[in-house]
Amino acid sequence: MFRHDDYQGEIGLIMPYEKDFCLSCNRLRVSAVGDLHLCLFGEQGIPLRDLLAEDSQMDDLALRIAGGLSLKKQTHFLHDGNSGITQNLSFIGG
Ligand code: SF4
Repeated sequence: MFRHDDYQGEIGLIMPYEKDFCLSCNRLRVSAVGDLHLCLFGEQGIPLRDLLAEDSQMDDLALRIAGGLSLKKQTHFLHDGNSGITQNLSFIGG
Protein backbone atom coordinates (compact mmCIF):
# COMPACT_ATOMS: atom_id res chain seq x y z
CA MET A 1 0.00 0.00 0.00
CA PHE A 2 1.25 3.48 -0.88
CA ARG A 3 0.06 6.81 0.46
CA HIS A 4 1.32 10.38 0.51
CA ASP A 5 0.76 12.89 3.31
CA ASP A 6 -0.25 15.61 0.85
CA TYR A 7 -3.01 13.56 -0.76
CA GLN A 8 -6.07 11.61 0.27
CA GLY A 9 -6.45 7.92 -0.34
CA GLU A 10 -3.96 5.20 -1.03
CA ILE A 11 -2.93 2.90 -3.83
CA GLY A 12 -2.54 -0.83 -3.36
CA LEU A 13 -0.78 -3.23 -5.68
CA ILE A 14 -1.72 -6.88 -5.99
CA MET A 15 1.47 -8.96 -6.21
CA PRO A 16 0.51 -12.46 -7.37
CA TYR A 17 4.15 -13.59 -7.63
CA GLU A 18 4.73 -12.80 -3.96
CA LYS A 19 5.69 -15.83 -1.85
CA ASP A 20 2.61 -17.42 -0.24
CA PHE A 21 0.23 -15.14 -2.18
CA CYS A 22 -2.22 -18.04 -2.56
CA LEU A 23 -1.62 -19.59 0.86
CA SER A 24 -4.96 -18.62 2.42
CA CYS A 25 -6.92 -18.26 -0.79
CA ASN A 26 -10.68 -18.44 -0.45
CA ARG A 27 -11.41 -16.62 -3.69
CA LEU A 28 -14.22 -17.67 -5.97
CA ARG A 29 -15.77 -15.70 -8.81
CA VAL A 30 -18.97 -16.09 -10.76
CA SER A 31 -18.61 -14.53 -14.18
CA ALA A 32 -21.31 -12.50 -15.88
CA VAL A 33 -22.22 -15.59 -17.93
CA GLY A 34 -22.77 -17.66 -14.79
CA ASP A 35 -19.56 -19.71 -14.64
CA LEU A 36 -17.89 -20.39 -11.29
CA HIS A 37 -14.15 -19.70 -11.43
CA LEU A 38 -12.07 -21.36 -8.73
CA CYS A 39 -8.97 -19.25 -9.39
CA LEU A 40 -8.54 -15.90 -11.09
CA PHE A 41 -6.01 -17.64 -13.32
CA GLY A 42 -7.84 -20.95 -13.73
CA GLU A 43 -8.30 -22.85 -16.93
CA GLN A 44 -12.07 -22.96 -17.08
CA GLY A 45 -15.27 -22.17 -15.28
CA ILE A 46 -17.93 -24.47 -13.91
CA PRO A 47 -21.32 -23.64 -15.43
CA LEU A 48 -23.89 -22.59 -12.82
CA ARG A 49 -26.30 -20.70 -15.03
CA ASP A 50 -28.75 -23.59 -15.42
CA LEU A 51 -29.10 -23.71 -11.60
CA LEU A 52 -29.54 -19.99 -11.00
CA ALA A 53 -33.10 -19.54 -12.22
CA GLU A 54 -35.25 -21.00 -9.42
CA ASP A 55 -35.02 -21.09 -5.62
CA SER A 56 -35.98 -24.78 -5.79
CA GLN A 57 -32.58 -25.46 -7.42
CA MET A 58 -30.64 -24.30 -4.35
CA ASP A 59 -29.64 -27.79 -3.19
CA ASP A 60 -28.38 -28.78 -6.63
CA LEU A 61 -26.52 -25.48 -6.88
CA ALA A 62 -24.84 -26.06 -3.51
CA LEU A 63 -23.86 -29.59 -4.57
CA ARG A 64 -22.32 -28.38 -7.83
CA ILE A 65 -20.36 -25.64 -6.06
CA ALA A 66 -19.15 -28.08 -3.39
CA GLY A 67 -18.07 -30.51 -6.09
CA GLY A 68 -16.19 -27.75 -7.84
CA LEU A 69 -14.39 -26.75 -4.67
CA SER A 70 -12.78 -30.17 -4.51
CA LEU A 71 -11.04 -29.26 -7.79
CA LYS A 72 -9.64 -25.96 -6.52
CA LYS A 73 -5.84 -25.83 -6.84
CA GLN A 74 -3.71 -24.48 -4.02
CA THR A 75 -2.04 -21.89 -6.20
CA HIS A 76 -1.94 -20.34 -9.62
CA PHE A 77 0.52 -21.46 -12.31
CA LEU A 78 1.80 -18.04 -13.36
CA HIS A 79 5.38 -19.11 -12.64
CA ASP A 80 4.97 -21.66 -15.43
CA GLY A 81 3.76 -18.96 -17.80
CA ASN A 82 0.19 -20.20 -17.50
CA SER A 83 -2.38 -17.47 -16.80
CA GLY A 84 -5.27 -19.78 -17.67
CA ILE A 85 -8.14 -18.28 -19.59
CA THR A 86 -7.73 -14.89 -17.94
CA GLN A 87 -6.27 -12.53 -20.53
CA ASN A 88 -6.82 -9.67 -18.11
CA LEU A 89 -8.62 -9.45 -14.80
CA SER A 90 -11.48 -7.37 -16.22
CA PHE A 91 -12.50 -10.52 -18.10
CA ILE A 92 -13.42 -12.15 -14.80
CA GLY A 93 -14.42 -9.01 -12.93
CA GLY A 94 -11.12 -8.60 -11.09
S1 SF4 B 1 -4.19 -16.67 -7.99
FE1 SF4 B 1 -5.83 -18.18 -7.74
S2 SF4 B 1 -5.19 -19.49 -6.06
FE2 SF4 B 1 -3.92 -17.65 -5.99
S3 SF4 B 1 -4.98 -16.26 -4.56
FE3 SF4 B 1 -5.69 -15.75 -6.64
S4 SF4 B 1 -7.54 -16.97 -6.93
FE4 SF4 B 1 -6.43 -17.83 -5.18
